Amino acid sequence: MTTLEERAWKTPPWESLRAGPGFRLADVDRASTPGWHGSKKDAEELLAHLGSEMSELQERLFARGRKGDQRSVLLVLQGLDTAGKGGIARHVIGMVDPQGVVIRNFGPPSLEEREHHFLWRIHRALPGAGRIGVFDRSHYEDVLVVRVEGLVPEATWQARYAEINGFEEDVVAGGTTIIKCALMVSHEEQGARLLERLDRPEKHWKYNPNDLPTRLRWDDYQEAYQAVFDRTSTPEAPWYVIPANHKWYARLAVAELLTEALRRMSLEWPPADFNVDAERAKLAATMVTPSRRSVQAEDEDLEHAELAGIDVPAEGGPPAVPSQKANGKGKGKDGNGKKRP
Ligand code: AMP
Ligand code: MG
Repeated sequence: MTTLEERAWKTPPWESLRAGPGFRLADVDRASTPGWHGSKKDAEELLAHLGSEMSELQERLFARGRKGDQRSVLLVLQGLDTAGKGGIARHVIGMVDPQGVVIRNFGPPSLEEREHHFLWRIHRALPGAGRIGVFDRSHYEDVLVVRVEGLVPEATWQARYAEINGFEEDVVAGGTTIIKCALMVSHEEQGARLLERLDRPEKHWKYNPNDLPTRLRWDDYQEAYQAVFDRTSTPEAPWYVIPANHKWYARLAVAELLTEALRRMSLEWPPADFNVDAERAKLAATMVTPSRRSVQAEDEDLEHAELAGIDVPAEGGPPAVPSQKANGKGKGKDGNGKKRP
């Protein structure tokens, strides 16, 4: 941890935000900033620091992935409309090299996806070795919107919590660190953010008239989220519930959780799988002037010699004794006396 990090967090987010036994979503003040004792300005400064750290760790992860390390990271972002999932993708994930990141948004399943098990599309979207995968919504929609809207029979969605736990256990065993973040805004804040989407033409594209029926079922969603935390916050893949009325806090918290997960992976730079000294020696041998350049250099020598009136032997070699008369001998020819192009 950096100094600012130590000073400003009284309790780090991986402790204060974790949904453990007895966790009650209803008790979470969405405008609170659990564990944080710094200012908003401190938060911005720390976020920038975390960005550089995360960026280096991500490059190490990527480099190791190229050299056979199978590990990866999966950040699952859940939250109701306007909770700020897109902002996390842009402002937190945006701080690392996009080449190492795969972001995926999950909407209603396509016809093809509906023909498969609900985890089929999720499985296919998992990050490969060395990658950071980001799920903007996820398999949890299959026990959230699906449960609230009654899109499948109750027995089907009830069975899904255990299926999800089993699936995630396998994914973790395969070398993927899963970080599950639920961004939680208040009902009032959601209303304000939806209104802003209507008020500002540049935000109309984010507004979906279907968000209102969802908002009307607020309590049902809170209950469905509570069930998710009760039943799927496992030791292998715990949930972090993040009060998200303050965007700066939510972004900082996710950045911390992701950075800490990367730190815990002990990501050394991958060792060379070749002999560094031998390669250095071979490279050094390539540093002598290539033939094309030696020809140019020879030409220049000859021109200088001519200007100075030095007699130059056709085969190169050291210039002979200075002579008073200019001599074009050897000019434009290679060592064998042939005309060069
Ligand atoms: P957005 O993330 O704003 O693009 O919205 C995506 C929409 O897709 C949300 O309304 C989700 O509830 C919905 N969605 C995501 N996954 C599923 C699913 N498995 N079944 C039904 N709807 C889903
Ligand atoms: Mg939306």
